Amino acid sequence: MMTREIIIATGNKGKMKEFRELLSGINVSLSSLTDHWDPMPEIEENGSTFYENARIKADWVFERSGGVWALADDSGLEVDALGGAPGVLSARFSGRGATSDSNNKKLVDSLHGVPDNLRSARFKCVLVLKTAPDTYLSAEGCCEGRIISEAHGTKGFGYDPLFVPEGFDLTFGQISSEEKHRISHRGAAIAALYGKLHELIN
Ligand code: IMP
Repeated sequence: MMTREIIIATGNKGKMKEFRELLSGINVSLSSLTDHWDPMPEIEENGSTFYENARIKADWVFERSGGVWALADDSGLEVDALGGAPGVLSARFSGRGATSDSNNKKLVDSLHGVPDNLRSARFKCVLVLKTAPDTYLSAEGCCEGRIISEAHGTKGFGYDPLFVPEGFDLTFGQISSEEKHRISHRGAAIAALYGKLHELIN
């Protein structure tokens, strides 16, 4: 059986690890942007929705790789008390040179004084798989929760230490990756794509 090569349009090691774990049951060989391009390309994500940004990244990889299947995700955090911010700007919330630490600090500061019952938020993830010119499969997932006022836990990445999923008392930074996959936005989006992908590949 042929192993299908898929380039994941990310250079984020945390995301790559999650994709490998979540797609381990499918006969695919996964690589990331850094495996193919040095220096890692900065693909300009100028879309106004997660879907547009995922598609921009899938198009870029599909074209530059000469037609290798390209899977892109765009994801982010929407905080109700901030009118849905940081949203598509999640990775760049604290400006140029943003890091997870600087983004998390900005999030804590932005919600300073906001009471517990107004701290609702959700992670969203949209996946776009491009398999041929003008042929896309897409799926999305969402995980509801709330933002706490100080970071807890060192697992995961990004905003994980500040996000407590609904029904939990611990942050994404405190639970195991298996548990996170079961309930996360990326887990849900991949589950939604998984069946379609399985049919195409196996
Ligand atoms: P993207 O790479 O353009 O999709 O940006 C996603 C950004 O949203 C990341 O850099 C993180 O800041 C945040 N994010 C997305 N998914 C997660 C997650 O599972 N945990 C924590 N932060 C996340």
